Amino acid sequence: MSVTQVAAYAAPAPKAPLERTTVPRRAVGEHDVLIGIKYAGICHSDIHQVRDGWGEGIYPMVPGHEIAGLVTEVGAGVTRFAVGDRVGVGCFVDSCRECAYCLRGQEQHCVKGMTGTYNALDKNGEPTYGGYSTHLVVDENYAVRIPDGLALDVAAPLLCAGITLYSPLRHWGAGPGTKVAIVGLGGLGHIGVKIAHALGAEVTVLSQTLRKKEDALRLGASHFHATSDEATFDELAGSFDLILSTVSAPLGLDAYLALLKVDGALVNVGAPEEPVALNLFSVIGGRKTLAGSMIGGIAETQEMLDFCAEHRLGSEIELIGADRINEAYERVRAGDVRYRFVIDASTI
Ligand code: NAP
Ligand code: ZN
Ligand code: ZN
Repeated sequence: MSVTQVAAYAAPAPKAPLERTTVPRRAVGEHDVLIGIKYAGICHSDIHQVRDGWGEGIYPMVPGHEIAGLVTEVGAGVTRFAVGDRVGVGCFVDSCRECAYCLRGQEQHCVKGMTGTYNALDKNGEPTYGGYSTHLVVDENYAVRIPDGLALDVAAPLLCAGITLYSPLRHWGAGPGTKVAIVGLGGLGHIGVKIAHALGAEVTVLSQTLRKKEDALRLGASHFHATSDEATFDELAGSFDLILSTVSAPLGLDAYLALLKVDGALVNVGAPEEPVALNLFSVIGGRKTLAGSMIGGIAETQEMLDFCAEHRLGSEIELIGADRINEAYERVRAGDVRYRFVIDASTI
């Protein structure tokens, strides 16, 4: 295939509804694979970026970094994949490949900056377009293999939501004997519950209301508390080794830090559009850690997919046609999704 136009859904301008259009995909280079996209998850990061909530958005914007599909063509130099392979692409499609972080498999922290799957410029200065599309051309080193044990539709959200939770859970040692709280039971949170439970941790969900309690217990949580109830914060003071916040809005950090044991860590993966306040006494007492974490590298993403296949963990999804993307965005913003919208790319 030479440079070609493919069907996609794009936001033409900040906050504009997404509409059907076409975007260019480069010719398949020596080390590239052409992927026929089957499914693309809708991450809350797509919504932040379409709204230009993080700034510096590039339009028209084709979101989508939870991509699952099949290899339909390979370049002459490709060694890792063959036509027909089941593959995924996450949040980035390139990096410098030379810096210390790239060399140790932490491409997301590349000193020259990773090339985002969308809303970014590639090495040639061309805009990248994401997974709300029929096809994607990507260097084989930035694709991962989706194990046979995982259906492609429920695997797609793992490419962002899955790795975003798996990486900090592993880094901060979630496992048998540790108490982990997941704040926010949305797309990220519900996969976090499954993975933390599979790692052997004792999992608590902290959600705004009690509405999702039954779901959380079914997904693997042992405890569930509503954060709208003031008593929750008194009852759980000093309880957790690790708290992972997936909340998309600013969080009252001091209240959550108080729920940690001595030496515990509050790790924020939610990426709200506004800054948050912090009283430093909240980390001084109890030698607590306040940290963040961003997705994971390619090797760790593969490790996460293999782990999820082994433990039969996929996302809980609501499959939609592309004509419902805008409606889905409104529903995610309203907290009305259980627990990830996934676009059937055949409808694009
Ligand atoms: P989501 O499906 O909308 O889930 C977010 C959850 O946060 C909601 O389900 C809700 O859970 C809770 N929440 C929402 N508004 C809240 C508020 N005002 N106060 C308290 N809780 C609230 O979103 P997502 O796709 O999981 O993404 C979550 C965040 O992570 C987004 O900001 C996204 O950009 C970010 N993200 C970061 C990374 C990374 O690498 N760090 C990767 C992907 C996404 P309850 O109903 O249970 O309260
Ligand atoms: Zn994402
Ligand atoms: Zn690098």
